[in-house]
Amino acid sequence: MEMSDSKYIYSDAELDRHEGQVVEDLKARSLEPIADPDAWLDEELKRNIVLTSVDTVLNWARRSSIWPAICFPACCAAELMAVEGPRFDLSRFGMEILRASPRQADLMITAGTLTWKMAPSVRRIYDQMPEPKWVIAMGACGVSGGIFRSSYAVVPGYNKIVPVDVYVPGCPPRPEALIYGIQMLQKKIAKMKAVPDLPEMLRKGDRA
Ligand code: SF4
Repeated sequence: MEMSDSKYIYSDAELDRHEGQVVEDLKARSLEPIADPDAWLDEELKRNIVLTSVDTVLNWARRSSIWPAICFPACCAAELMAVEGPRFDLSRFGMEILRASPRQADLMITAGTLTWKMAPSVRRIYDQMPEPKWVIAMGACGVSGGIFRSSYAVVPGYNKIVPVDVYVPGCPPRPEALIYGIQMLQKKIAKMKAVPDLPEMLRKGDRA
């Protein structure tokens, strides 16, 4: 029999001794386990994978990209313009894009006094915004009609026309106040139920 060291072994005893030596050599070289070739995968999974809910992901996307419709009837709009500018920088909230079309907007910021004559147009803008949509009543006029509340021509609060999510008082509110209101709205959006209740939908489908 030819062995690795090119010697010829003829007796059983020598053959056993040689085999024993091979085993002992292998044991001596095998004290440490061979590294798992997939060990990097465990680390990658820990670093890269986050478990969360679909609601959380959808609400995160929605609250991080709220696009306001252009609907600023009066003087509070000046503060809103300041919020849009570089000093207060509304783009930090993913909101710098004011949409001229309500169909591309999901937020109405009611920056100004609303007269009854303008109210149907504001309601129409709101109706044309796709769901989900939100309203921030900005300024005393937006909240309650403000100093014009007793006027026959002024709507005493936008909530008579559209559902309001957040109220920001002040005449006018400072930009920081509006930003605080926006953060309140973001918190509200974060708690929304974004995914439909499938069992409930199926139940309704059965009844239809
Ligand atoms: S709250 Fe004051 S600043 Fe704002 S629209 Fe009314 S009057 Fe103008």
